[in-house]
Amino acid sequence: MRVLSILCHPDDMELTCAGTLIKCRKRGDDVFACHLANGNMGHEVIPPDELREIRTREAENAGKLAGFEVINGDIGDLTLNGSDFEQVKKVIRIIRYVRPDMIITHDPADYCSDHTEVYRLVFNASFSASCPHFHPELGGATKVTPIYFAETSYAVNAVYKEYVDITEEMDLKMEMLACHKSQIDWLRDHDRIDVIHNETIKAADRGIQCGVKYAEGFNQLLAAQRLVPYRMLP
Ligand SMILES: [Zn+2]
Repeated sequence: MRVLSILCHPDDMELTCAGTLIKCRKRGDDVFACHLANGNMGHEVIPPDELREIRTREAENAGKLAGFEVINGDIGDLTLNGSDFEQVKKVIRIIRYVRPDMIITHDPADYCSDHTEVYRLVFNASFSASCPHFHPELGGATKVTPIYFAETSYAVNAVYKEYVDITEEMDLKMEMLACHKSQIDWLRDHDRIDVIHNETIKAADRGIQCGVKYAEGFNQLLAAQRLVPYRMLP
């Protein structure tokens, strides 16, 4: 299977579905991890251009640890826009390049507009990508791809209907998360947030819900042409 996560910031994959994607790799899937935003506003001290470089490298290094191909959409933070046709075309190009069997993206009920706009871009582009005569210069048409929503930030405002046991994958997920040092340091120093601690608690809480040590939760987009009669998540 070909699996594509399209999320917002360079560390959102590790904060939501890295354990599941590692598990996909283990079963032989090709995994592509796209962050549409470059994360350039995610610091109080480091200027945007420099931060963009740092965070691009952090995401690359994290993806390498798990054998993922990392794709950087390189859109500036706070400018994600599901109605911006240039951004839609960018996402169509990514989807037609990867030709995924399954896409994981943000939940439309997530906490900030950049995340929810990523959902809108993915919803729009993944349908448009299936139309052969629609901008063929962006690549050959794909099928209308099934979409799964990753957990919202701190799982607020969501109940999960699908779970993936990531107990065996937890160590690597946390190693990947640790690659995002600029964010971990910033959130610790300026917001008193311990990202590593929080993510461990979160995965354990999701694990309690489904009877394992650590888990990640998902919901599926229930829409015509996007459903299959078998489980796609590992
Ligand atoms: Zn984010």
